Amino acid sequence: MKKVAFIKRGSCSHWVGDGFPVRSIFSYHDIADQLSPFLLMDYAGPADFPPTRRKLGVGQHPHRGLETVTIVYQGGVSHRDSSSGGGTIGPGDVQWMTAASGLIHEEYHSPEFAAQGGIFEMVQLWVNLPAKDKLAAPGYQAITADRIPVVDLPGQAGTARIIAGQLDEVRGPARTFTPMNVWDLRLATDHRVSLALPAGYTTALFVLRGALRFGDHDDQPGVGAAELAVMDREGSELAFDVTADSTVLLLNGAPLNEPIVGHGPFVMNTREEILQAIHDYNSGRFGRIGV
Ligand code: MN
Repeated sequence: MKKVAFIKRGSCSHWVGDGFPVRSIFSYHDIADQLSPFLLMDYAGPADFPPTRRKLGVGQHPHRGLETVTIVYQGGVSHRDSSSGGGTIGPGDVQWMTAASGLIHEEYHSPEFAAQGGIFEMVQLWVNLPAKDKLAAPGYQAITADRIPVVDLPGQAGTARIIAGQLDEVRGPARTFTPMNVWDLRLATDHRVSLALPAGYTTALFVLRGALRFGDHDDQPGVGAAELAVMDREGSELAFDVTADSTVLLLNGAPLNEPIVGHGPFVMNTREEILQAIHDYNSGRFGRIGV
């Protein structure tokens, strides 16, 4: 049975642009290898926005060498990028954007949400690419909620929405470069959950709401809202008790075991590749939005 390696609590809230009040849950700057292939997680909100006609969010900025995965829980996000990807996603939808060789994008509250106002809540996850795919062609997967299969967990413990990977015979829609499971779990209090996951993979549980307890004794660590439990890689059974109705994002993936050299929105394997990324971006090789 997997044990908790450590629990990570989000940093103080800071603003990304003027639309996303985020807590940084983890980043390749502080824990690089232990969460591979996952590089970074920002948790935006939940935060109440009054109705506005202004565009709130982040304007044009580049990425290279990674994928950004945006999961909307409440509110709406509109996106456009220089590889002609774009669209608006709402609650339950996921945007899986492959930056790879490089693109420029912008991320804003959707016009519909901005006009209406209300609670905004999303997770943005950065997924690393293996060295051989860092310069692959950019791509964009708009994964709407109706395409994400829902699996009932045994004993009426709750449900798992399979965004990526596979549970039992059910496969999620996201195409990924390396094997991983990204599941949106809704769990009922006073139930025990047991999941079989590949041994040797990175496993982490991010609790958006509710509380989980690991182990058989009361002195084992609990994890609550806006906290991430990172599990040992040994073992293939992940088991925990749900001690309050919970919304949990499960991350599970094969570690890449490759060097990570990052500079802001670029994550490569060497310093030379970072300098090349900056050079390519500055010379306009990442394209332009709307062209
Ligand atoms: Mn971005």
